[in-house]
Amino acid sequence: MAKSGARKKLPKEVAVINADNCTGCEACLEVCPVDCIYKVAGSTIPVLQSWCEIDVERCVGCEVCVHIPTKKTDPYELTVCPWDAIEMIPTVRVAEYVVPRAAGDAADAECTVITFGPSQGGSVSDNVDRWVRQFNPLSGAPTKATHRVGGMTVTRVEVAGSYHPMSMPGGPQAPTTLQGARLLGAIVEAPSGLWFFKLTGPDASVRAAAPDLDALIDSVRAP
Ligand code: SF4
Ligand code: SF4
Repeated sequence: MAKSGARKKLPKEVAVINADNCTGCEACLEVCPVDCIYKVAGSTIPVLQSWCEIDVERCVGCEVCVHIPTKKTDPYELTVCPWDAIEMIPTVRVAEYVVPRAAGDAADAECTVITFGPSQGGSVSDNVDRWVRQFNPLSGAPTKATHRVGGMTVTRVEVAGSYHPMSMPGGPQAPTTLQGARLLGAIVEAPSGLWFFKLTGPDASVRAAAPDLDALIDSVRAP
């Protein structure tokens, strides 16, 4: 049975899937020990257009979805993905924070800041879509807006509802589903690559912490 809950420490690398190469065969999904790979159905022809995505905020960097170790002298002999669609990307700079819960909320919120370096981690719209898909059902229409900070474009996203990052929309709910949740995310398009700020947790806790995160994002500058 896969482990559930938040990862205990940040991995040095996380796995990402190149959706252009992925056929949705589910080979990687079957082997992930923390169930952080999930299938996404295409919008036009769901069965034919499906692919898999990895929840990078939950990936523990074990590489099990990339290769099957055989012996020490040849540890990478067998690869999992038949289409070479998965790669391990160093978490160049990452931080994770526990955000104290607001009065009345049953759990703390959490905030992650992560970047993978130039041209890594997918597009802005891919990541916004991935964040929105982690909520089902929604409690309102997600909001998305862009603004400029320090000469860089920032895409700010807010979505609320039932948060279940490991489940497919419409599928069975994962054990970690959080009802009445909210996500505030921002993607900063820096010269060094995309920087992802993601605050998730109970609705009131995220709302309470939102001004601080907005202030942090509006203070960022390119090195
Ligand atoms: S590296 Fe490990 S935890 Fe991450 S997606 Fe692959 S199998 Fe899952
Ligand atoms: S093994 Fe490769 S092709 Fe199959 S679902 Fe995973 S990434 Fe996609």
